[in-house]
Amino acid sequence: MKIVQKELHISSKNRDQMIDITSQVGSAVSKSGISDGDVIVYCPHTTAAITINENADPSVPHDILLTLSELVPPHRAGYRHYEGNSDAHAKSSILGCSEQVLLKGGKLVLGTWQGIFFCEFDGPRSRRVVLQIRGE
Ligand code: ZN
Repeated sequence: MKIVQKELHISSKNRDQMIDITSQVGSAVSKSGISDGDVIVYCPHTTAAITINENADPSVPHDILLTLSELVPPHRAGYRHYEGNSDAHAKSSILGCSEQVLLKGGKLVLGTWQGIFFCEFDGPRSRRVVLQIRGE
């Protein structure tokens, strides 16, 4: 089994933003020469996340961000974290910092409507996404 690590660099523009990174992940997989296996898409940040969801209708990421903002208010009386960005930490943990995508014939195994999103919750910032591509 071969293992290749790559890194993507992402610049978010808003405090909350979902950025479609499917094509960047797909091209890193192509360049790796690994055709069957999997890729772990990992975000080494505490106020960002990785998720897979619909990338056909841009209203879907909008509505996910709206839903998260209703679930997790930006300010609450009980928050203690000194940085004042507790909502961003909570959203990051709700979605999680990684996704695993299977590879077949050098392509990402995704459903017709699925895309991989980097989710920013405390932007704008420069961010990293680490890819670990494993297989044959
Ligand atoms: Zn913080």
